[in-house]
Amino acid sequence: MIRNFLFHRVNPERDRLWDPMDVSLFDKCIKYISQNYKVVLLEDLAFSDKLHTRHQYATIMFDDGYKDNIEYAAPILDKYKCKASFYVVTESIDNNVPTWTHILEHLFKFTGKSEIIMDFDFLPAELQIKHLLNVEDRIRYVNKLKPYLKKISHERRNEILKRIAETYNDVTLPELMMNWKDLKELRNAGHYIGSHTVTHSMLGTMSDEKEIMEELVRSGSRIKEELDYFPVSISYPVGSFNETTKRLAKEAGYKLGLAVKQNIYNPKRDDFYEISRIELYNESWWKTKLRILNTLENIKSLIRYK
Ligand SMILES: [Zn+2]
Repeated sequence: MIRNFLFHRVNPERDRLWDPMDVSLFDKCIKYISQNYKVVLLEDLAFSDKLHTRHQYATIMFDDGYKDNIEYAAPILDKYKCKASFYVVTESIDNNVPTWTHILEHLFKFTGKSEIIMDFDFLPAELQIKHLLNVEDRIRYVNKLKPYLKKISHERRNEILKRIAETYNDVTLPELMMNWKDLKELRNAGHYIGSHTVTHSMLGTMSDEKEIMEELVRSGSRIKEELDYFPVSISYPVGSFNETTKRLAKEAGYKLGLAVKQNIYNPKRDDFYEISRIELYNESWWKTKLRILNTLENIKSLIRYK
């Protein structure tokens, strides 16, 4: 059994829209995980015979490729002698721009326009808003808009994002991402760099197979150009995938497809292209510990099968 723990940002600074994990909580997590499980790289373990021993394994994974991963998380990984995998969005790394979810939040939070008018006719009625007068309203709104955008098709989402970016173009985007030098440093320290696509597109919502293939192949090739290997692992952005995604990931040359399912991964039973990961957030330690132990999921499944 393997517990794959998924992190995003680790930072001492708080953010109201998408709060990074606090550095002290991250330290507690890695300390606890390294004391209670055998921490490995999934990319090493998945294809070795060691998998069949009785160890309780854990892996540590980061999605997106944030600068604070190397600034704050890597020293703590070193402290507890743990290696981790970092799944990067290659266009974000190339241009130091955040992923679209982050850009969206940022535009709404920081636009200097006195009034936001979201009356785009292609939005559902409850999301067509004429007046968002202050930052509180805007934050509330974007928190409703984001889940909607995650449900719709890739094409529609891109159209909406484009319109929003054109309308609220007065915002300077934050420079949050690692660069290739950072990634080489992580790789040289024994960590693994895998793919998280080119543009953070939700692969399971895309219909054009050529476009999906492009996200898969071009990100892997970009990593190969910089780090000299085509990664064995692809982390599906926003945990979005379907049967087509899995088939194409395999065709593109990946051996492991990473989802987010808040569950323990059983390599003997579960699909290599649908690997569960347990995401950890900036919460209290007792809640985080329940997630690490998977207690909440166990309770939920007990209730479900009662
Ligand atoms: Zn992501």
